[in-house]
Amino acid sequence: MRERSRLGMGGFAHVAIDGPAGSGKTTVAHALARDLGILYLDTGAMYRAVALATLHAGIDPRDGAAVAALARAEPVRAEPDRDAERGFRVFVGAHEFGQELYANDVSRVVSTVAAHAELRAILVQRQRAIAAERAVIMAGRDIGTVVLPDAPTKIFLTASVAERVERRRAELEARGTIVDRAALHAEIVERDALDTTRATAPLVAAADAVEIDSTGLSIDEVVARIAALVRA
Ligand code: C5P
Repeated sequence: MRERSRLGMGGFAHVAIDGPAGSGKTTVAHALARDLGILYLDTGAMYRAVALATLHAGIDPRDGAAVAALARAEPVRAEPDRDAERGFRVFVGAHEFGQELYANDVSRVVSTVAAHAELRAILVQRQRAIAAERAVIMAGRDIGTVVLPDAPTKIFLTASVAERVERRRAELEARGTIVDRAALHAEIVERDALDTTRATAPLVAAADAVEIDSTGLSIDEVVARIAALVRA
């Protein structure tokens, strides 16, 4: 068996964390980044930024050509930043987006927007450019399969639907958003279906990813498990 390199593209340490909505990727990846002292980027925020810009521009999220044209005209820029609240910052054109990326309106259309191959090609290129210059923990749906296929550490994080709904509800309520549990459950199931069945870069574990079912595990336990894999 070929020994796997400990470093990814450009000779940097790369950690790919993929998984469905609410699997804890974001919280775990952010904590892991602090633990290991490397930067973190949540690529979901880039798709959310395009989805929000699409809503602002009154573009039909199903219109792939119009969505891609918007992303070209108003480039999405993501910058890992240790001092930022989430560990990274996201801009569309000159405008920085924050909390509004997680609004219900955005969550409802983001998977439709993210299914367009033309848009994905634009964002994947930017994500690779970020990884080519630094060590980074990247979270998303296609990081281990498409964006960083040579990443030395790949994690596929899952959890039961009930637990994912509950985590997302707690997260949203902590930020002051009142949530209807049934509507949240329906949204997560629908996003899972769209993300796993789309033609381009569907959500699937890379053949060489380590699968971790985080149901019933604490964030600290998951972080410790991944940190041990990275350090191994
Ligand atoms: O991770 P988060 O739930 O914020 O992602 C929002 C949506 O963005 C996902 O449901 C998926 O449709 C899309 N996405 C993607 N590829 C990524 C990251 C997110 O298609 N690498």
